[in-house]
Amino acid sequence: MDKAKAKQEAERLREEINRHNRLYYVEARPVISDFEFDRLLERLVGIEREFPDLATPDSPSQRVGGEITREFPPVIHREPMLSLANTYSVEEVADFCRRVEKLVEAEGGKAPEFVAELKFDGVAVSLLYRDGILVRGSTRGDGTRGDDITVNLRTIPTVPLSIVMPGGPLFGSAGSEIEVRGEVFMRKEDFGKLNEDRPEEDRFANPRNATAGTLKLQDSSEVARRKMSFVAYFLKGLEDEAMPQLRRLQQLESMGFMTGRNYRLCRGVEEISGFIGEWSEKRWALPYETDGVVLKLNDVSLWDRLGATAKSPRWAIAYKYAAQQARTVLRDVVFQVGRLGTITPVAELVPVRLAGSTVSRSTLHNFDEIDRLGVRIGDHVTIEKSGEVIPKVVAVVLDERPPGTVAIDVPEVCPACGASLVRPEGEVSFYCPDESGCPAQKRGRILHFASRNAMDIQNLGESLVAQLVDRGMIDDPGDLYRLTGEQLESLERMGAKSAGNLLEALAESRKRGYERLLYALGIRHVGRATARELAQACPSLERLRETGEEELAAVPDIGPVIARSIREYFARPWVNDMIARLAEAGLPLQAEAPKSLVNRNFEGLSVIFTGGLERYDRQAASELVLERGGRVVTSVSKKTGLVVAGSDAGSKLDKARKLGVRVIGEDEFEAML
Ligand SMILES: [Zn+2]
Repeated sequence: MDKAKAKQEAERLREEINRHNRLYYVEARPVISDFEFDRLLERLVGIEREFPDLATPDSPSQRVGGEITREFPPVIHREPMLSLANTYSVEEVADFCRRVEKLVEAEGGKAPEFVAELKFDGVAVSLLYRDGILVRGSTRGDGTRGDDITVNLRTIPTVPLSIVMPGGPLFGSAGSEIEVRGEVFMRKEDFGKLNEDRPEEDRFANPRNATAGTLKLQDSSEVARRKMSFVAYFLKGLEDEAMPQLRRLQQLESMGFMTGRNYRLCRGVEEISGFIGEWSEKRWALPYETDGVVLKLNDVSLWDRLGATAKSPRWAIAYKYAAQQARTVLRDVVFQVGRLGTITPVAELVPVRLAGSTVSRSTLHNFDEIDRLGVRIGDHVTIEKSGEVIPKVVAVVLDERPPGTVAIDVPEVCPACGASLVRPEGEVSFYCPDESGCPAQKRGRILHFASRNAMDIQNLGESLVAQLVDRGMIDDPGDLYRLTGEQLESLERMGAKSAGNLLEALAESRKRGYERLLYALGIRHVGRATARELAQACPSLERLRETGEEELAAVPDIGPVIARSIREYFARPWVNDMIARLAEAGLPLQAEAPKSLVNRNFEGLSVIFTGGLERYDRQAASELVLERGGRVVTSVSKKTGLVVAGSDAGSKLDKARKLGVRVIGEDEFEAML
């Protein structure tokens, strides 16, 4: 492709990708499949790689991420990002309206109008556009000083990389800047998927925490994968400084931003409390979490004149919906032992109705939390449920503490096996150290192994696993496949038919594949996403066992913590015992080889691609290697067999040369095929 043609094609692709992005994210009516969309994006990335000077700062290719940020430079906000005054009472909202009315009257205005907008439970950010191009995005920080997180914000599909600058009176002359503020958040569905891919011990408590954590990640491609959204609610820098807030929201929409959409112009307290009441129930049906309503004076020209207190502006207020709470009595605390030995205190409550269901148990998280609450057995407590999260104890009603309450002591020994508990330095949890002997840990491990996303063994439920472990018939997943029909039939409530079904389900589970097995092992910090990465990097358990900690840590998304956890896992004698039994049972301890090899020209070679190839995209080139018996890896080490270097090859090429790894170009690669 010559350059003029490439330029034309790139422009066409950008336009088309932007159009589909908008259809998908802003208008929620996609017209092509995700696959087709990815193909368009891939083609654009290919062209920009071939002709780097054709890449533009607002190209949708910027969204795939890939940049690693070591440190986020500070940003001083031109105008402080004030936080709004919060209230939980409609009374106080009425007071606010009266105050504003008085101030407006004093300025000679007429009865004020307010824009009511739903409040998103996310993280506030500011975006700066110069001549219509996104040049900077930052966190709110302390209101005066935030962090520059432009690379991460660029990956969010609903953050426009460029906006239409019609010129004329709207935006002023060249070099003009506009600022858009809003909230980054995670839709309930995307949050659910993100958590499902994480190991239980690393799950996020709620979408807001997940969003805040993700915005500060150093690897922007991981940020891109996590699918966050942006909703805009503030627009500044227009030529028409007096444009009212309602019109500004509409303006944002026509510029390609997503707004809350459910906003409404309200006159007076009655209309406002009507809006608040209407959404207090309706909001549960929205695809994202909202925690209140924001009210802003529609007449923006009065904002400056009304000014702000030390902390918040006088022309706006946030009404927050109270979390769903209930009062009950803490009857007892039991200690659960997780599959990794973690001791979790669980509150047993006098049953109470809360947010549409009966609650009789709730988590107390850990002993620091018990100390913080100062809770004792017999206390009256307030429990709370917000969003999709399980209920938790949030406070003790101290005024009503009855006589005879009992302190909750940290148990000295494991309630399941009697081993003395340990608390590793720097951790909040206590652990049962007897990994191989503790029946609770055994049960947890087997249940995880059998769970739906792991080996998916039907009919192997809690009570059956408890019986099998308690009778000493199995100790770990490796024993499952040795069970006989006779053994199973000796169990309570187990006839010949159920025993047969379970044996069949076990046989079926052998086919799940290596990646699922890696996840099923339940290695600490290895969730489904990590298992996928590991299976790619080390296509057999044998290889994974032999790979050094440093090499593992260099695999994208693995990092030092997971690498250490994997090393520690394989250092355990019982683990290696179990793996030997799994192997004996015929479980997939390595990735399946490609169906039939084209030839064996790359057999045993681990290959790295770096830089751009002219005739193949990365995916196609990788497949060619796999079909010829080779492996494709992403980080250079002494074990790397071959580096294929294209144009603009970077640090990997330098490292390969330093390590003396064989380097070839595209022509030689083609010859080898
Ligand atoms: Zn134990």
